[in-house]
Parts: sequence; C-alpha cells; structure tokens
Amino acid sequence: MSLYRIKIKVISPLQISDLTIGNVLKQSETFYLQPSTIKGGILSKIYREQKVKEVCEESKEASINFHPAYPVDDGIVSRPPHFLLHDCKICEDGIYVNEVLQNKELLKEFNFKKFNIPYKCPSGHLFAISPVKSLVIFKNSKYKKFSIKKMQLESIGMNRALGQTELGMIYSYVTINPGMIFEGLIYDSKDKIEKWLGYKPKNEEVRMGRGISRGMGITEVEFKEIDYEKYIEERANEIKEAISKADGIILLRALTPILTINKTGFSYDIDLSEYGLYPMKVFNEVNYLAYTIEVFKGYSVYTNLPRVEVRGLSSGTLYFYKIKDETKIDEVSKLLSEFEVKGFSSPFNVGLNIMEVYTDIGKLL
Ligand SMILES: [Zn+2]
Repeated sequence: MSLYRIKIKVISPLQISDLTIGNVLKQSETFYLQPSTIKGGILSKIYREQKVKEVCEESKEASINFHPAYPVDDGIVSRPPHFLLHDCKICEDGIYVNEVLQNKELLKEFNFKKFNIPYKCPSGHLFAISPVKSLVIFKNSKYKKFSIKKMQLESIGMNRALGQTELGMIYSYVTINPGMIFEGLIYDSKDKIEKWLGYKPKNEEVRMGRGISRGMGITEVEFKEIDYEKYIEERANEIKEAISKADGIILLRALTPILTINKTGFSYDIDLSEYGLYPMKVFNEVNYLAYTIEVFKGYSVYTNLPRVEVRGLSSGTLYFYKIKDETKIDEVSKLLSEFEVKGFSSPFNVGLNIMEVYTDIGKLL
C-alpha cells in the first residue's frame, strides 16, 4: 500500500474542458484536474511505455484512488468555493465568510429554510453579494479568490483527403496555461503503479487531457511517497481539533462530484451512521448544501474518448453531521482521515465521493 502526494506541472497547454466546435461554445467549467484526467494520463503512459496489459484491469476493477488535483498558489493548495462563502463585488479583497461558520450557536441552529443570503457585506455595501465563482485559498484564517490561468486557442479543421481546410470547421479549445502547478493524492492500495513501472514513481512525464496528438497536455508529475500511518495520525489530530471547536458538528467538503450507488440506485446520501456520525439535517430531510451540479466524465485508457457522463453534486458541496458519542472523538477522527484518503462512499476509486473534513472551521469559529 502506498500513498503519494503528487505535483503536476503543466508544460504545454492542458485541455481539460470540452472541445468546442464552430461558434457553439460547449465548455464544461472545471476548476481542477479531475481524477479521471490524472488516471487516464498515468495509466496510458504505463500502457504505452511499459506495455503492461494489466493496466486495463484498473478500469474494470479499480483499486487505485486518484484524487483530484487543485492548483497551488504560493505554496497553498486551493479549494472549491462553497455556499457559505460570499463575494462582495465592491470590496477589494472580496470573499467573506457567512456568520454561520463563525458562531457556534448559529451553526447548531443552522437550517437553510430560515436562512437568508446576506444583503449587505461587513463593510456595508448593499446588494453586492454573489456566490464565489472562483477557487479559494485559505491563509491566515482568511479566504481569497484564486483563478486558474487559462487561454483560448483556435484551430481550423483539415480535410485529410483533400488536404485543405474543411469548410466551417473551426475548433476552439480552452486550455490551462503552462507553468501552473496542481497538487493531489494517489492512494494505491495494492502497489500496482510500482509493480507495473518496475520502480517507485518519481518524476514522470505524463500526457493528460485532450489534444495529446497535437502536443497538448504535456505535464511533469512529481511523486512523493508519504508515510500513511503518520499522515493519518496528523490529519486525525487536525480533525479532532475542528470537531471539538464546533461542539461535535462535522462538516465535510466535497472535492469531487458526489454520487453514490446503493440498493435503490443513485443517491446523494452519504450514510456514516455505522461509524458514529448522524446526519444533521440542514434543508428539509437532507444534510447537505449543494454548490452546483457537476458533470463527471470518464475517458477510455485506449482511445482517450469520453465513455460515461454522470451528473453529481459538485465539488464544494457541504455535508453536515453530528458525532453520536463525544467520548469516541479519537476513533471517529481517525476513521474520517482514512475516509479522506480512501473515499467516503461507493463507488470507490472512480473519481467520485472524495471529500475532506472542513477543518478550516477550527480557525473560523
Ligand atoms: Zn463590500
């Protein structure tokens, strides 16, 4: 079993949004590198260079948990925005945190039905509030906005038979600029990557995203193996502190789309009752606040073509829970840190249901 922290440095423009054709702009906005993009890049490299056929098993019976990778700014890894962060269009520095996350009593009573979006910011600007639409960086107990540096490239379709431009075929791509760095985790429960490569991955050139044949998507991926036990212990301590500060309330923040599969089919419920957490209902019968809906796509390892498309609750969705028995806080904190690495609900290892305990709250309350 290995846990890697990976840093992905973009070398040539990286295309992660949909291809757009003609003047129909079909761009699916993604703030981060989806697990499927990273998985596709790394596995197809192994398939191509090491000729390892077993790589294909990973698409049927996945045991490697690729986390999403979020861009890094000044050494800090950004995170998706959520519903309780607000943006004032007039204030220079922008983001402010809803009082619910700064006041224990309000947090305990929190119910979306009685909730009003603030109509003025702390500086008194009226009706200038909107949801945060960029990623956020949390530093010194404050949030600031962070946007991926992107560019739009145009190209003209060629008719191969005639060797001339194809009428009306203008492609437009939105790409991530070279130089950007993303960071995420890979949890390889059966040490498959090392086995397939024949060595511990270190600094690998990986091509990911779309347009690889046109020279796009060249990245450098730095793998740093981290001590699993130590990582879990340190994270469990941070989680415990956040739970104590919030008087037993636990917020989970989604880093990927959320979509679980249970006996009755697709669902957005993440049931953690058998682990000592019961849902804190915040909106009718549900314990989550969705940020938006996100489209999740899988790519074939062989062809790099889209295969599946599912709609889930987006990254940035917040789930609310309460601890059943506060004397079990150590046990629960450790379990939560393990779920962060392994995923919170089935289906596992497919780039869904990766969440983290919203430990920022320990610094906000
Ligand atoms: Zn303001």
